[in-house]
Amino acid sequence: MRISQIGEFGLIERIKAIIGNPVIGDDTAPVNIDTQTLLFTCDILIQDRHFKLSYPSSAVGWKAISVNVSDVVANGGEPLYALVSLVLPDMEVDYVEGLYEGIKRACDFYGCKVVGGNIGKGEKLAIDLFMVGKTGRFVGRRGARLGDSLFVSGTLGDSRAGLELLLMERKNYEPFELRLIEKHLRPTARVDLSKHISKHANASMDISDGLSSDVEKLSKASNVRIRLFSEKIPISEELRLFCKKHGKDPIEYALIGGEDYELLFTHPFEKLNPFLSMFHIGIVEEGEGIFLDHKPIEPMGFDHFRVL
Ligand SMILES: [Mg+2]
Repeated sequence: MRISQIGEFGLIERIKAIIGNPVIGDDTAPVNIDTQTLLFTCDILIQDRHFKLSYPSSAVGWKAISVNVSDVVANGGEPLYALVSLVLPDMEVDYVEGLYEGIKRACDFYGCKVVGGNIGKGEKLAIDLFMVGKTGRFVGRRGARLGDSLFVSGTLGDSRAGLELLLMERKNYEPFELRLIEKHLRPTARVDLSKHISKHANASMDISDGLSSDVEKLSKASNVRIRLFSEKIPISEELRLFCKKHGKDPIEYALIGGEDYELLFTHPFEKLNPFLSMFHIGIVEEGEGIFLDHKPIEPMGFDHFRVL
């Protein structure tokens, strides 16, 4: 049997059966050491899969840190340390320096540090980042309670539109298109919500594969049904302009588009903090599956081995 026959998530199920550790399945792995809860996570960016060599290398470095910080804050933590493993072909030293400038800039922004790494030679470039964070209270995917409201930290679908624009490889882009491209190249992890999540959320994760597929993971882990309100899903003005120009549906981009790196979390509605960036997009109900308004929907999103 090939991996493509069972998909990324089918493979993870088999790995879980071998490892036998029930905590596998959240954005980070919480590990208690003395009285501290540390959060461990890793994520890999692979050339021609996640980025192209034509992208600015500093943006690739920024993103490698950001996607890991996003997992740490999704679980209510703050990032501390990172190790960077590089697989490198023989390439310009400038490129690698640019990569590390992006990594350093992101670490300064998020308040974490690179404390080591490793370099190996390979056919294509890959950046595998391991990160450690800490939290006062770990919040994973399985705690959503009936009656909770579902919140998202920002607009969805921008990154996918930005990727599509990048792949057009046009000479000129309009200002709103450049802002969408920027969202794809340099996502910012929502460190502003980490404390709120740690204090109030019952369940939390980040949106990396697309809203519909990530909501499904949260609903499955918590054994609940989640109902999304289509008119409440935040859509940026830039995505509206993009969809108008190309005859697309922004809600579809929000539901299916990946790599938003916004946070998805649940808690009672009363805990909403109007001073934070959080949008009420759904509710947690008894049952299973996900509903968009009154219709059940099938999750669609990114699976690394399967094209849906
Ligand atoms: Mg994640």
